[in-house]
Amino acid sequence: MKKSAEAVLSSHGLRKTGIRMKIIDRLQESEFAMSQPDLEQEFQKEADRVTIYRTLYSLEEKGVIHRIIDLTGVSRYAICEDSCDSQHHADEHLHFHCLNCGNVYCLQVPALPSYSLPRGYKIESTRLSAEGTCASCSQS
Ligand SMILES: [Zn+2]
Ligand SMILES: [Zn+2]
Ligand SMILES: [Zn+2]
Repeated sequence: MKKSAEAVLSSHGLRKTGIRMKIIDRLQESEFAMSQPDLEQEFQKEADRVTIYRTLYSLEEKGVIHRIIDLTGVSRYAICEDSCDSQHHADEHLHFHCLNCGNVYCLQVPALPSYSLPRGYKIESTRLSAEGTCASCSQS
């Protein structure tokens, strides 16, 4: 889509490894967030479970990917926005959970709602999620 996996890794100060690049490429081309078992299955020839677990962990920690917990409690991973780094994640988009296929989509929305909160509360980041039917499920 946008940056190459190589550029993503170097801009986040991560060493270039084959599996990191493959996972970034895969998540960039995926329409929806993918779980660790999904990725394990796709890359079973290239890497074992532990390697994939560690790769996801370091990519998340460095602000390359973010984790979404789906409606069944499973973690799914998606590529971050450019503004994320190791200090904080700023994935201010909508997470759409499809009730039919179970996929989770990162959807860009024009503006996130802003709230006025009681005195003393300070928002650092907002997460927005919605449930419904995704585009590919509405077609069939
Ligand atoms: Zn992020
Ligand atoms: Zn769906
Ligand atoms: Zn997302």
